[in-house]
Amino acid sequence: MADTALDRFFEIEKDKYGKAAYYFKPDKASSRVRAFYARPFCPKYTQSFSTTMYPNTFFAEKKKGNTQSCLETEYHENVHKWDRWHEGFAFVLKYAWPHWMGLPFLLAVVALSGMWGWIAFAAFIGLLHLGLVILEVSARRSKDGVASGGAAVPLYVFMLFGLIALVFISIRDGGYWAFLWLGALLFFSPWPFKPIFRRNYEIRGYTMSLYRIWLKYKDVFDAEKFKAAIDEYADIFAGPSYLFMETNRKRVRQEFLFQVARIQFSEAGFLERWVWKADITKSLRAEAEPFRMAKFSIDREGFGG
Ligand SMILES: [Zn+2]
Repeated sequence: MADTALDRFFEIEKDKYGKAAYYFKPDKASSRVRAFYARPFCPKYTQSFSTTMYPNTFFAEKKKGNTQSCLETEYHENVHKWDRWHEGFAFVLKYAWPHWMGLPFLLAVVALSGMWGWIAFAAFIGLLHLGLVILEVSARRSKDGVASGGAAVPLYVFMLFGLIALVFISIRDGGYWAFLWLGALLFFSPWPFKPIFRRNYEIRGYTMSLYRIWLKYKDVFDAEKFKAAIDEYADIFAGPSYLFMETNRKRVRQEFLFQVARIQFSEAGFLERWVWKADITKSLRAEAEPFRMAKFSIDREGFGG
């Protein structure tokens, strides 16, 4: 079954990865569970954010019925899928670096806390879920399925004070070992161990987004289109969407300008192998296959609805 341009692109993906499917978030129970946990941080998780869980894609609700918008997203997601396929589980660890390093610290502290630490921890998790349920109900009651902006604030306050209380209990019961908490914070926060791998994977992903812009507008070459996109990406890179994976907007912009130059060289037929194969920036692996997959699809389907 390959009814739409999107279905036909997923056929190409299936040839590559063996399996690949797409869903729209409201239709999938697993997506609704993830939305429940994501809601305090990402209220429009279901409505506006598309997510990839290799080898499947879960499109945002608002993309339903808009094949071109789905394809635009999928070309980007397919870069991640290709990297995941290429690197295996190492990709997952690198993409989520450094946050999973905090887990052993957290568990060590809870383990050191003694009985009261465990009771407090269980109470914290329980109340956290109660807060999430309240958010869920408030989202369901609203017209657009999004909890109002202030709805999550009591939950933030609770999480902050709950964490502080847990720290005190673990210091009381575990003595100075409780300062392992700081170790957990170091890895859960984006500093000082930066999410450098995620940043580089996303440079590749957003380079695909620029590549599509190039193919769409090259005949009426429009530098403003690139500039607007690059400014938008720099803000995304520096913001909370990917947990502050880059602090230097200027550096991201320069790197994307370099990628635009690469795309232009490559598309003009110059130095094709050199441009795509060489690891010039040391921050970017230049495997070109997901770009060729997208190019094949765009040549066949165009940009129309
Ligand atoms: Zn991405």
